[in-house]
Amino acid sequence: MHRTYETEEISIFWNSEKCRHAKKCVTGSPEVFEFGRRPWIDPARGESAKIWQTVSHCPSGALSITYNHEVQVNYDEASCRAVAVLHGNEIGECDYEVTDSGQSWNIYHTHVLPEHNGKNIARRLVYRLLETAERRGITVTASCSYAARLL
Ligand code: SF4
Repeated sequence: MHRTYETEEISIFWNSEKCRHAKKCVTGSPEVFEFGRRPWIDPARGESAKIWQTVSHCPSGALSITYNHEVQVNYDEASCRAVAVLHGNEIGECDYEVTDSGQSWNIYHTHVLPEHNGKNIARRLVYRLLETAERRGITVTASCSYAARLL
């Protein structure tokens, strides 16, 4: 399961299949990470720099984090994609095709303008599609090599 937890400033990514429940996050920032609460990660309860430090101590790689750099990531169902927007301009996208009569999506393309490299925008795009699909019970595959590494 892939989830993103966002504030205006940061995005926290969580891959449940990597989580070893070592609780470093819960002890590091208990106000933000709390098992049993919904959502169990609430970045609005903490200070971004401290959350960053806590996430860096996750031993499994289940957690990762990025600053948003004012970039918005939206799901665009009509065009089968997630799109990254900065000040009204599209700066990246992640595209999928629907297969198996709607039961599966194949992510085949992820692209961010080179001048925005290093902002983790591609990860945010892929996670947006993964979370959307998982919440709908849709299976995801990826012929895009970048997205495949995040599955
Ligand atoms: S620190 Fe990482 S591995 Fe441990 S419970 Fe939190 S998310 Fe899971």
